[in-house]
Amino acid sequence: MRHWNTWGHEDSEYAMEFGGEGLQQLANLIGPGKPLPAATLAEVIDRVPASRLPEHPLVNHDAEVRVRHARGQSFPDLMAMHSGDPGAFPDGVAFPESSEDVRELLKYAADNEIALIPYGGGTSVVGHINPNKGDPRPVLTVDMARMSALIALDKESQLATIGAGASGPQIEELLQREGYTLGHFPQSWELSTLGGWVASRSSGQQSLCYGRIEQLFAGGTIETPAGTLEIPAVPASSAGPDIREMVLGSEGRMGIITEVKARVSPLPEQESFHVVFFPDWEAGMATARELAQQRTQLSMIRLSNVTETAMLLMSGADADSLAVLHGELSRHGIGDTRVMMTFGVTGSTEQCNAALGQTTKCFERHGGVADVFQLGERWAHGRFRAPYLREILWNAGFAVDTMETAVDWAKVNEAMQGIEAAIAGALADEGEKMIVYSHLSHVYGQGSSIYTTYLFRCADSYAETYRRWQKVKAAGAEQIVAFGGTISHQHGVGADHRSYLPAEKGVLGIAAIRNLCQLFDPRGQLNPGKLLPDEEAQ
Ligand SMILES: Cc1cc2nc3c(=O)[nH]c(=O)nc-3n(C[C@H](O)[C@H](O)[C@H](O)COP(=O)(O)OP(=O)(O)OC[C@H]3O[C@@H](n4cnc5c(N)ncnc54)[C@H](O)[C@@H]3O)c2cc1C
Repeated sequence: MRHWNTWGHEDSEYAMEFGGEGLQQLANLIGPGKPLPAATLAEVIDRVPASRLPEHPLVNHDAEVRVRHARGQSFPDLMAMHSGDPGAFPDGVAFPESSEDVRELLKYAADNEIALIPYGGGTSVVGHINPNKGDPRPVLTVDMARMSALIALDKESQLATIGAGASGPQIEELLQREGYTLGHFPQSWELSTLGGWVASRSSGQQSLCYGRIEQLFAGGTIETPAGTLEIPAVPASSAGPDIREMVLGSEGRMGIITEVKARVSPLPEQESFHVVFFPDWEAGMATARELAQQRTQLSMIRLSNVTETAMLLMSGADADSLAVLHGELSRHGIGDTRVMMTFGVTGSTEQCNAALGQTTKCFERHGGVADVFQLGERWAHGRFRAPYLREILWNAGFAVDTMETAVDWAKVNEAMQGIEAAIAGALADEGEKMIVYSHLSHVYGQGSSIYTTYLFRCADSYAETYRRWQKVKAAGAEQIVAFGGTISHQHGVGADHRSYLPAEKGVLGIAAIRNLCQLFDPRGQLNPGKLLPDEEAQ
């Protein structure tokens, strides 16, 4: 069973423990945590108002089901659910099992002036799937979980047709049985879905070899209020603008994706993950850039900065092992300014050996030293665990959230420092300290993503903690815009980033997206209030 107010499954194999010493170290850095009282599920169910939806056999009005679909997984979502006041509940939830069901729901919505929210895994961190408070229309959430089958697998063309509601584990189970993989592993993989990845332009941890969802999405079927949109899967095309690009990142505003034709790969013969330490950030960054620009056949590169390296080592190892590691590194001249790069090699034995050889030469040229403690494999083993940590920190009275962007290499360093400094200082006027650290999570020839994590103490109330979060979020987002970065490299726009979108798309660009949404959804019934800024706010 999924937790109703936080990340994950109650019996997940990824659930983690973190406590005692780790929390004490945190308190030493920013002060003791301030836990806030949490509402129970029964209390929240009691608050669910009567549904405004007319009866329909596909619509479930059950109060608990409505609570469980009220919010996503952003920090404000976590707070809202724990406080017992999600703000707004959907009036009902439908679980379609076929494209006919989806078309029926679109018709029902049109006939009754209903707002529809397409729902994948509900793992959005930017308010994508939250009903708008005060929407005069009844709201129906359309949960795609029952459309999760492997419909076809063309092994010759390496093309799979999969129901859009399939989650990461379901997709891999279906494909791996046949000897294939999609290779899309966002950190939210345990709960997020194929349709959600396409609709929010997701990026997986191994996108360096498998590609982002844009490269994996070959075509598919989208049911829209204006009709069915079939996008044929062709290997490549010069026949005008690409319709796939209109659907990618559409965030539920143009239609409901029912089937995805995805480019899959045979399971790799070999895969391994490794860690290298560098004497400083500049050496690590030069290596990451060089590896990306040389098109070295790695499946991932993640470069943690000095503070993140220290935090990862502190939380992942006991004091004795850390002392041994530090001693070993200092023999190579790597001291307190050390940074850590994690990389993966995936493919045939021959490809992996070649990539490892090329990478070793590159990092050695920059003073990098390979770790001998299997830290890379430990990272791989725990790669889906981190989301469980947030609840542990929350229960101890600490808030944790992330921000991410992508900029050109020429700006990476400056932007990372600017974003970190803005976040670190955001609560200084309240005398509150922050922990802020970053890593480069996805590297490209042109530039890199920057993924920044920050922790602060909860305030004395939910409202005050939310206000603190707003200050920090705005400080970071303004720096991203100031550096000309994208407001999101992988999390999307949703409700939380939409006011920053015009800075990236321009007036004409926003008008083009708005017109496209209107073409598919003339009455504005699909996921209102997301992606696009309010017209008057432009
Ligand atoms: C702990 C954590 C880690 C994360 N790590 C990553 C990461 O590594 N990489 C990454 O890219 N993202 C990450 N995310 C963000 C999130 O998982 C992604 O945005 C993901 O793509 C959302 O998928 P979902 O199925 O949960 O979609 P939802 O959250 O349910 O929906 C997201 C948006 O897509 C729309 N949508 C969903 N399904 C459909 C459909 N079938 N048809 C039309 N529209 C649809 C919704 O209306 C909404 O606008 C993370 C989130 C969390 C909480």
